[in-house]
Amino acid sequence: MYYSDEIIEEVRSRNNIVDVISSYVSLKRQGANYVGLCPFHNDHNPSFSVSERKQMYKCFSCGEGGNVFRFMMQYENMTFPEAVRALAERGGVELPQEQESGAERARAQQRERILNINKDAANYFYQQLHRPHGAKALEYLKGRQLSDETIRKFGLGFAGVDGRQVIDFLRSKGHEDADIRVSGLASFSEKEGLTSPFWNRVMFPIQDAGGHVIAFGGRVMGDAKPKYLNSPETDFFNKRKNMYGYHIARRSRAGNFILCEGYMDVIAMHQAGFDQAVASLGTAFTEEQANLLRRHKDRNTIYLAYDTDGPGVTAALRAIGLCREAGLVCKVIDMRPQKDPDEFIKANGREAFQDRIDHAENSFLFQARVEYEKVDQQDPDSRTAFQTRVSELLAAVPDELARNNYLLAVCERYGMNAEAIGRKVSELIGHPEEVSGYVRPKPTQAKRKREDASSVAQKMLLTYLTDDPGLYPVISKYVKVEDYTEGLYARVAELVYRGMEAGTLQPASLLNQFTEEEQSDVADILQAQLPETETEQDRRKALRDLILKVRENSYLVFSQDTGDKSMEHVMETIRRKKELEDLRRRDLF
Ligand SMILES: [Zn+2]
Repeated sequence: MYYSDEIIEEVRSRNNIVDVISSYVSLKRQGANYVGLCPFHNDHNPSFSVSERKQMYKCFSCGEGGNVFRFMMQYENMTFPEAVRALAERGGVELPQEQESGAERARAQQRERILNINKDAANYFYQQLHRPHGAKALEYLKGRQLSDETIRKFGLGFAGVDGRQVIDFLRSKGHEDADIRVSGLASFSEKEGLTSPFWNRVMFPIQDAGGHVIAFGGRVMGDAKPKYLNSPETDFFNKRKNMYGYHIARRSRAGNFILCEGYMDVIAMHQAGFDQAVASLGTAFTEEQANLLRRHKDRNTIYLAYDTDGPGVTAALRAIGLCREAGLVCKVIDMRPQKDPDEFIKANGREAFQDRIDHAENSFLFQARVEYEKVDQQDPDSRTAFQTRVSELLAAVPDELARNNYLLAVCERYGMNAEAIGRKVSELIGHPEEVSGYVRPKPTQAKRKREDASSVAQKMLLTYLTDDPGLYPVISKYVKVEDYTEGLYARVAELVYRGMEAGTLQPASLLNQFTEEEQSDVADILQAQLPETETEQDRRKALRDLILKVRENSYLVFSQDTGDKSMEHVMETIRRKKELEDLRRRDLF
């Protein structure tokens, strides 16, 4: 069932977000907003804020945010249409029968059908475990010491003895072949018709942050290859952006995340009480996944529990780099002599694992140890090679304080002369092209800083605007939509400006124009923390600074567009520079 924008807006306006959230979370008035403990992370100080005026919420700690629909989707694990129906009922809005659907709506409809297929398939696989042909799979899971509760919690199942059974079942539930194909649960061939690649395997449903099944992993029980088979990527399943176990781990009270290699590791850890464990989806850890974890601002330590063998170490080194790039603290859990967390917990129990977490190794010292173990320390040339490598690793650490602390620690551990290593590091930083195998951290780092400062300014301007539409004439006079240089900001700015022009801006309804993944970020843009200003004069000064900062950034981005070397570009650059200088000298208000 799909609904027009008008109906969605009607449902939204009949459900005051403060009332809806109050029925789940206890809120207290604080100034213009309401605050409470965030239901989406283990919150100790109220960091969850609800704005009645904007009809939006936002957590300043974990970054969750959105409108009333988004809240229901996150809190109750609903899809968007489900949230619309629940709130329509609550607000006494009668929903119309099915309406005409455009391309967007067709896609949303298809997504709901695919999610239903996945849900039905997951139920089917789970049921098969307890049928005679599933006995082997159940035995396998029991052999891994998984409890009935764990099997149920993760929805583990058995695929059936051939690739037709699940297809027949899905057809019997009324699903169309075309949708079954799109779901990734089946492929089509002239000879065989529609068959599923999943058969005779133990099945692991893969869930998104909201708990919807979006794909499957299947593991063989014997020696067949491949050991794990995952659903292919589809329009509705992106391996890079989702993580196994994340729908549970995101609400863990542990205060950190544990990143492991496999689904079995995640399940074993959750069963042992480590419900903060997650894994990537059959590929290496990705930048998108690091960003997903970074959104939990009070949980910025990531513990790596990768296999202790060669490939596991390589994967850990890669993950360390990505975590550092994302500004996350990374530590490595040593599970030797066991190979992985599953084996470790079985052999030594929960407390021993907690102890290993408490003594996890600093990620830099881990990197150095891996290098140390590669070379023969008795041979002077090998030792020089090791010291050079350590110097290179140090040179690649962007933060100077951290670099110096690592330097002292690593020299103490391996009995090296800190002064000599320090000189080598300075030399390498002076000539970064000599740092072999390492992407130079400095330029990207500097660029990111500038982007950050400017994106904060863009965000704050948009928040000022939605807080006080009276500012629109001034802000729009000096800052145009194209001055918002980052993709999402530009899209938000365009909608805000358009809404302001028409006098119809509703921040909470604007959110519906964005995908589920984007909504938290958009909520963040419209609810940035603003500088505290006491007088109107202070406020004008703060606004003036922001306007200038956004314009400066817009100028920099334009003038550094090295792809365009035309005379027009040069002239335009000069014109913009002059305009910016004029602006700096003027009263804006
Ligand atoms: Zn939160």
